[in-house]
Amino acid sequence: MELVYVALGSNVGDREAHLQRALDGLRATPGVEVRRRSSWMETEFVGDGPAQGRFLNGVAELATSLSPAALHGVLQALEIAAGRPADHLRNHPRELDLDVIFFGERRVDTRDLVVPHPRWRERAFVTEPLRELGVDISERASGEGVALLTDADAVGARVASWLEGGCRIGLVPTMGSLHAGHKSLMERARAECDRVLATVFVNPLQFGAGEDFDAYPRDLDGDVEVCRQARVDAVFAPSSAAMYGDGFCSEVGVGREAEGMEGLQRAGHFGGVATVVARLFALAQPHRAYFGEKDAQQVAVIRRMARDLGFPVEVVPCPVVREPDGLALSSRNVYLSGDDRLAATVIVRALREARAQFRGGLRDRDALVARARAVLDSEPRCEVDYVELRREPDLLPLPAGPVDGGRILAAARFVGGERPVRLLDNLSLTVEDGE
Ligand code: AMP
Repeated sequence: MELVYVALGSNVGDREAHLQRALDGLRATPGVEVRRRSSWMETEFVGDGPAQGRFLNGVAELATSLSPAALHGVLQALEIAAGRPADHLRNHPRELDLDVIFFGERRVDTRDLVVPHPRWRERAFVTEPLRELGVDISERASGEGVALLTDADAVGARVASWLEGGCRIGLVPTMGSLHAGHKSLMERARAECDRVLATVFVNPLQFGAGEDFDAYPRDLDGDVEVCRQARVDAVFAPSSAAMYGDGFCSEVGVGREAEGMEGLQRAGHFGGVATVVARLFALAQPHRAYFGEKDAQQVAVIRRMARDLGFPVEVVPCPVVREPDGLALSSRNVYLSGDDRLAATVIVRALREARAQFRGGLRDRDALVARARAVLDSEPRCEVDYVELRREPDLLPLPAGPVDGGRILAAARFVGGERPVRLLDNLSLTVEDGE
């Protein structure tokens, strides 16, 4: 027999009768003993569903010989018997809600059931009754939260258990020093997938000689906290040796999508990006992988790589997240000097100028680029690497002459601070994102 804690709640009809009947139903179930229950407590609804009545809540301590899946099936049947429709919408009023909080010391990670319950600590209507029943909450809480994995085998094992449980996996690859742009990717993955794996790895393969690999900002504790807030399930933060293993020497080649722009400025960069992302796709076997449109050429390179090598993953581009003054969030922004920080908005102003001109009727490729360039050149602190107008969605070059859309991309350096900072940004001429 294993000791199980089940949270009970009701906010429709005769709430106490629903909770009582649920306990009666559990008592009548072979293989289940109801040992004790907390007092019932009344709580306000919390969450993002429609306004609704107060809940009556409590926690029951059971002993059971059933498996977690079998007990979960019993709880679902009791919810339905209480009048709750099988296709009940999340966070809507309900006759009966039964959640497994703890099942002995077990960890369960299937699509339908996660134990310990992922949000038990945030809910006073669970923690208070648990305390009343004498459960040592602080001990239970230690070791929970987002899992930090540092070696590839641990990722493989976790992914295998997620896949076995029927979960759809979302992957968010990053180089850490996480900000609201990264967080937006994680939140999208959280909303669309059953499990989210974020990776934090400053990938040496994608930095050239003389680039800022050593100086790239690193803050693993802060990163894990951002992941926790975004309700990521696991963070993979390996060393280079753990990522690539002994004797690693295979690399992914890249082609057309990697030509020009970043590919020209940073020789070998996209080969390094494609290699690490392919390695992550193989390891995490994601159904969906989330990338920021801020690095639009990277998205095009990865999409091509996934298609060419046959990874069964959907590459999901996500809109650029900006500061209130328009500057695209970047981990490198912390290195801008005060004056460069103010000057750096020139990039988005230049891109917006090109878009405004396009909307005003200007259609010539080179004239649109020249308008953006003139804005960039008006800022003496800014050293422009490139401004280009490319076609969507693969970002291949557009022929000179009239265009009916496209994406305008720029990279520029600001050298007034402690170290030079290179920033990228881009805007679609036709899509509303990044206004
Ligand atoms: P990085 O850590 O810079 O490699 O970025 C990791 C992922 O976050 C990439 O897919 C980036 O495109 C994305 N990202 C970075 N900055 C932003 C931003 N401001 N808005 C949206 N996504 C971003």
